[in-house]
Amino acid sequence: MARDEVAKTDFRDAILWHLTYTLGKDPDHAQVFDWRLALSHAVRDRIVDRWMTSTRETYRADAKRVYYLSMEFLIGRLLEDNIVNLQLADQAQAAIEGFGLNWREVLLDEPDAALGNGGLGRLAACFMESLATLGCPAYGYGIRYEHGLFRQSFVEGRQHEAPEDWLRQPNVWEFERPEARFTLGFGGQVTVRDCKTLWQPDHFVQAEAFDTPVVGWQGRWANTLRLWAGRAVDPFDLDRFNAGDFAAAAEAEALARTISRVLYPEDSTEKGKRLRLTQEYFFSAASIRDIIRRFEQDHTDLRLLPQRVAIQMNDTHPAVAAPELVRILHDERGLPFDEAVEITRGCVNYTNHTLLPEALESWDEGLFGDLLPRHLQIIDRIDDQDARAHPDRRNTARGDGKVRMGELSFIMSHRVNGVSALHTGLMKTTVFADQNRIWPDRIVNETNGVTPRRWLHSCNPRLSRLITDTIGEGWTADLERLAELAPFVEDAGWLDRFARVKAANKADLCDWVAREQGVMLNPDALFDVQIKRIHEYKRQHLNILEAIALWQEMRAHPSDDWTPRVKIFGGKAAPGYFFAKDIIRLINDVAAVINADAATNGKLQVLYLPNYNVTLAERLIPAADLSEQISTAGKEASGTGNMKFALNGALTIGTLDGANVEIRDLVGPENFFLFGLTADEAEARRTVPDHAAHAVAGDPRLSRAIEAIRGGTFSPGEPDRYAGIVANLTQADYFLVASDFADYWRAQREVDFAYADRKGWARMAALNVARSGWFSSDRTIRGYMRDIWEAESLLDQ
Ligand SMILES: *Cc1c(COP(=O)(O)O)cnc(C)c1O
Repeated sequence: MARDEVAKTDFRDAILWHLTYTLGKDPDHAQVFDWRLALSHAVRDRIVDRWMTSTRETYRADAKRVYYLSMEFLIGRLLEDNIVNLQLADQAQAAIEGFGLNWREVLLDEPDAALGNGGLGRLAACFMESLATLGCPAYGYGIRYEHGLFRQSFVEGRQHEAPEDWLRQPNVWEFERPEARFTLGFGGQVTVRDCKTLWQPDHFVQAEAFDTPVVGWQGRWANTLRLWAGRAVDPFDLDRFNAGDFAAAAEAEALARTISRVLYPEDSTEKGKRLRLTQEYFFSAASIRDIIRRFEQDHTDLRLLPQRVAIQMNDTHPAVAAPELVRILHDERGLPFDEAVEITRGCVNYTNHTLLPEALESWDEGLFGDLLPRHLQIIDRIDDQDARAHPDRRNTARGDGKVRMGELSFIMSHRVNGVSALHTGLMKTTVFADQNRIWPDRIVNETNGVTPRRWLHSCNPRLSRLITDTIGEGWTADLERLAELAPFVEDAGWLDRFARVKAANKADLCDWVAREQGVMLNPDALFDVQIKRIHEYKRQHLNILEAIALWQEMRAHPSDDWTPRVKIFGGKAAPGYFFAKDIIRLINDVAAVINADAATNGKLQVLYLPNYNVTLAERLIPAADLSEQISTAGKEASGTGNMKFALNGALTIGTLDGANVEIRDLVGPENFFLFGLTADEAEARRTVPDHAAHAVAGDPRLSRAIEAIRGGTFSPGEPDRYAGIVANLTQADYFLVASDFADYWRAQREVDFAYADRKGWARMAALNVARSGWFSSDRTIRGYMRDIWEAESLLDQ
């Protein structure tokens, strides 16, 4: 028997074994669900050895460990990721098909783990995969939300939210660690006795660990994602139970579990909620204790912590980790206060993700002090020392009755990074200008990236195969090798194969949309896709206005040679963000009218796919021709969706914002559709009186489109439905939709013209693929390892 034959048989047996003995199912009666679990167990077995070896190797080398603290990990499905990274795809598929099952159906049976809102959480997930691929010893720390991000559907065009129940099914990937628990205190008093400060909290919860292995490319290394779940210290009150009060008997447990019950459905606006701060402290404090516990297994001198530990705070949500570490080092371990602060600063780093003022976290000092009285004192003391050392400082962590988490994170960090060149530059001149003047070396840039394993190799197997056929293996872990594709764009035969890959991906999407939505898309049209959280700064309303204007133009000039277009939207709005929800409803209303119009049939279609998540992104991105990255310049920190699209051969229409700037530089301005005001121009435009009214009055297309909304064309019988949007567009228009409309329209017509030349388009798309290798999150993580963490790989490179 050939070697791969043996492996195949082994794997088949492993699945059958798990089906029978782990799941207790008779193969004759097993459903897709059972087979999927059995397959997952068989895959998991092959991760565990690697996982343990990696952990042992880290202890042996006494290597510096990286701790990535993030409130969100938008990991999506893991089965395929793991199979691909372990290079089991062929044998697993053969085994599953051998049992008479459909391979994709089995993979898609897994729930999508949506433990995040959007880009920030997805970045954390890509980073975990790259850390494992690069063999950097690392742990991800977060919260094991019972309910991830809500499930979105549409009811009469409006967003409807239902709880996500991903843990209703067994989660094969996680290992519960009942022995790894920490008791965390909240509230209470701070007392001073014998010159020692003592925090005496008045209530307690426990954090219990659940570990998920994260395996890197080719299974060479595996790290741990450790998520904390809330548990009561005394889960059950027998006295109350015996007294007949059954509900009260379990009350403590119910309250403790609330902490890890739901993911806050906000992505850039913070609600000053007590539970949110509780969640932040809960996971940060549990992680800090775990980090110290692990350090002390092999070390006794806590002053060496910065040599062995690098902590990365993904945004300010884990910012209380820093005063917590100071508190433990000083109050509990007796190190001098200043030394405790220095040690903490040697370990902690902070990634900033937004410049939007409403999204910079700050807490009312009353609430903060009530929940974390000792931490408030520690923050005050550090901030005071800081203010004395730098009397000209204006921005401090405390003041106006607030605790400002961005400032706190900055002053507690060794390095602070932005996530694209433009964003980092703006950080230095806006939010952190004051700090940057005092500590000019602290801010560094690490432009975001995405893992090519998931976002090219797995989600786009046809393109992956073409790339491998063309330049050989190896590019998956060395993405800049995609540059070797560039010469092939001059080869007509190759370019034709490239174009056929996109056409086949589009045909797949058409089939799926027909099945799921009952809508027939024109596969020959340009697929124009905007998928991301709904936010005014991301400007989905600019896109839908253009759709309205285009529809009107097509109706006015029916015999013109229009490039057929399918406009696809996807994205969720925060439940309390009413303007964003109006945008969703408007898009759905416009879609209903346009799609029903015989006059533009086959030329223009608008589709809003519900419940955007990682799985939907994996389905849409390989089929996109055009990527909409149209945020108001200066507002999108980086974007990572933009990178996924370019890597999969979609051309970008975009502003000079976030990483769009770097994408355009790399793929070449001739392969990118640029429009709009720059960040500086946008700032200046806002100061022009009546800028929106002028823009509307000066552009007949824009005014006709707005007029149609105002007149009720898309809300028959209820012309006021979008009065809020209309007023915003014509008056304040902070996000400059009206000001950018005319140039957006121009760029879109350039897109139409370019798409009419299919060969030219394919060439541009292929160059986007060939020149996007730099956007691998492997490159980003190497940057963090070098510039921020001073951490090393334990794999032979
Ligand atoms: C990549 C990704 C994002 C981030 O998209 P942006 O366009 O950068 O905002 C959000 N959600 C999901 C599911 C993603 O895969």
